Amino acid sequence: MATRKTMIKTCPSCGAFFNTDAYEVINASLDLALRDEVIWGRIFDFTCPSCGQHFRSPYSMAYKDMEKEYVIFLDLDEVAGDSNESIREKRLLADQIAETRELFPSYRIRVVHDMMDLIEKIHIFSAGLNDKIITYLGYKIKDDVTLKMKNAKPPIRVHKALFDSLKGKEGELKFGLLSSSPKPIFVTTPSRDYEYLLKKSPLRHQFDEADGLYQIDEGWAAGIDKVLIA
Ligand SMILES: [Zn+2]
Repeated sequence: MATRKTMIKTCPSCGAFFNTDAYEVINASLDLALRDEVIWGRIFDFTCPSCGQHFRSPYSMAYKDMEKEYVIFLDLDEVAGDSNESIREKRLLADQIAETRELFPSYRIRVVHDMMDLIEKIHIFSAGLNDKIITYLGYKIKDDVTLKMKNAKPPIRVHKALFDSLKGKEGELKFGLLSSSPKPIFVTTPSRDYEYLLKKSPLRHQFDEADGLYQIDEGWAAGIDKVLIA
């Protein structure tokens, strides 16, 4: 089940404007096929009616999972600057968050600003993991690999480490690195690192669900590290 909206898209090839159908809210627990379309990014694929060009163009939407109890808002800056339209969009997101809190008080609410981050959150919550711990681990992995790759020739720049999956009997967490390397790089970390952060680390309470904190990303993880040093 999903709520739909009409959007105007611009073809990157011929510049034609066209109206198209898009999702406003996706209810993943009621439509598994649609969940896969999100995981593969295909719900953001369009075809230009004028020239036939296929292109991917993510847009703001909400992804809801009633079984795992969470809502992720993909919030993209579709309208630049401080125009009335962009203020209206920000207010709309605040309203949607308030409404979710009221109707589903037990749900985790997250706000992301990138399609890859949306997909990562879905992978994390599907695996039944705490996204704060995973985000923190990803941040540490990025740091670690960046240091190791500094002297590689040519030097490899790591942009982000994104959670991919749980694997193996022993339990390993697999991350994919977005980097300047033409080849995909995967890094695994033992599940005991996750367990340590969950149960024993002095940081563990930072990973509890906190009221009003919806943006769990690299900036948030960097802030956690400062807490440790202070
Ligand atoms: Zn076109």
